[in-house]
Amino acid sequence: MPTLPCPLCQNPTPRTIDAATAIAQVNYYRCDICGTVWHVAKDDPFGPIQIVAKGVLPKPPSDNHD
Ligand SMILES: [Zn+2]
Repeated sequence: MPTLPCPLCQNPTPRTIDAATAIAQVNYYRCDICGTVWHVAKDDPFGPIQIVAKGVLPKPPSDNHD
């Protein structure tokens, strides 16, 4: 199955959500880095994606020394 990178953080290895994908006409993916969930039509895996839940990008290391 072709896999697109995460639309938010470009993580190249998102996780497929098999349970949701099995019953839907789309492939569901979840990014382990930022938590974004999205889906793509099974018959057009490189077509437009639909973001279901937008994740949050990891914060860069803080330089705050208080
Ligand atoms: Zn991501």
